[in-house]
Amino acid sequence: MTDLTRLTAAETAAKIASGETSAVEVAQAHLDRIAAIDEKVHAFLHVDTDGALAAARAVDDKRARGEKLGPLAGVPLALKDIFTTEGVPTTVGSKILEGWIPPYDATVTKRLKAAGIVILGKTNMDEFAMGSSTENSAYGPTSNPWDLTRIPGGSGGGSSAALASFQAPLAIGTDTGGSIRQPAAVTGTVGVKPTYGGVSRYGMVAFSSSLDQGGPCARTVLDAALLHEAIAGHDPLDSTSIDAPVPPVVEAARNGDVKGLRVGVVKEFAGEGYQAGVMQRFNESVELLRELGAEVVELSCPSFSYALAAYYLIAPSECSSNLARFDGLRYGLRTGDDGTRSAEEVTSLTREAGFGPEVKRRIMLGTYALSSGYYDAYYGSAQKVRTLITRDFERAFTDVDVLVSPTTPTTAFPIGERADDPMAMYLADLCTIPANLAGNAAMSLPCGLAPEDGLPVGLQIIAPALADDRLYRVGAAVEAAFTARWGHPLLEEAPTL
Ligand code: GLN
Repeated sequence: MTDLTRLTAAETAAKIASGETSAVEVAQAHLDRIAAIDEKVHAFLHVDTDGALAAARAVDDKRARGEKLGPLAGVPLALKDIFTTEGVPTTVGSKILEGWIPPYDATVTKRLKAAGIVILGKTNMDEFAMGSSTENSAYGPTSNPWDLTRIPGGSGGGSSAALASFQAPLAIGTDTGGSIRQPAAVTGTVGVKPTYGGVSRYGMVAFSSSLDQGGPCARTVLDAALLHEAIAGHDPLDSTSIDAPVPPVVEAARNGDVKGLRVGVVKEFAGEGYQAGVMQRFNESVELLRELGAEVVELSCPSFSYALAAYYLIAPSECSSNLARFDGLRYGLRTGDDGTRSAEEVTSLTREAGFGPEVKRRIMLGTYALSSGYYDAYYGSAQKVRTLITRDFERAFTDVDVLVSPTTPTTAFPIGERADDPMAMYLADLCTIPANLAGNAAMSLPCGLAPEDGLPVGLQIIAPALADDRLYRVGAAVEAAFTARWGHPLLEEAPTL
């Protein structure tokens, strides 16, 4: 009998549509897998068994009535716990929202449900999506299925670990500075940060609103494209949502091709701090692109060197303002409300008890950077750097169609190694942050295992804003050629748990 948890999303949907298996059987197989192994991985914060089975039953009933099913109907999905889900807990990995049951669905949640996608539960994450390892979750870390002593990336480590441990074929992440792509890279999965504004932020708990972007996570490029199409598109409830047609991502994923494509290798994405095995796999991928008919050009984006510094002023500034809403008065945790204290004291005690150390660090940084006297020196300068980075991209994209780089400088590091060193942690996003600052579309896909530690390496592809389809056209070509030559790292070599 086929192991239903090993199939791709596209294969699963086809089997359900043909009646070879039912959506309920598929959901049950994944729920059983979660029950069997998630104790070791800790990908999920909440498993919605009843909701998942009910959604699966609805798909089976629809099919029984002879109605047409969507391309992902009945396929299970792991949802990052940053999206509101009506009637299902949403914590953002924080104690401040422990026990909160949202009264409404995020637009992404709504669209998943409308597509007949079966939401298995909510995945673990760094508190408020601040981190690169999922160790900042208030509910304990998630392990990397390739090596349980290592991090699965962050902030969306729960989503990527769920994919890599075959607990779900699809997942949703959010990427403010790399939280979809970096976890994808270190778990051997595919993750896409769509163009900023491509997927609605309505009901996605805000970290840094000008950077936050939800997007698809999967084990194959085609599956990611199918999910991208299901969640993308204009949403009047999000003022920064783009009112333009969704780029033809599925068509692109089905027609992988790089012939004649101009591919840029950015000089600044290399050097000190980059692991030798990561660079080796990256260079092989560039060679592969060349063999497939792409024209490879080396170019320089000098402002990228300042991206990390600018990000760590802009993101904390926006977070200090966004997180002001957690006042202990309206919803979520309330501490010290014993009838003797003022509202201000209750707010202060609640925030002291409810936020973890990284969140507090960022609120303080951001408040400082935005305060009068420092605004121009810090926040204002960071915004200028942001403009320079956007210009570097614009210049690069007049010479090339896409840029490529390693997604992360290193493979998955051991849990605990960088936990007390925020600067070392921040470096994990060196290659991913520029695309967030400029709003471009970017993907990470597996490009083999590093020889020195046998852990997955990610190849990052960056495309201009609104050219998300380019990522999938290139990604599908690389994935096919790579798999034909070396095998698929996750599908063939993934450790069994
Ligand atoms: N690791 C980065 C940070 O800590 C990015 C997080 C994200 O993309 N959500 O801010």
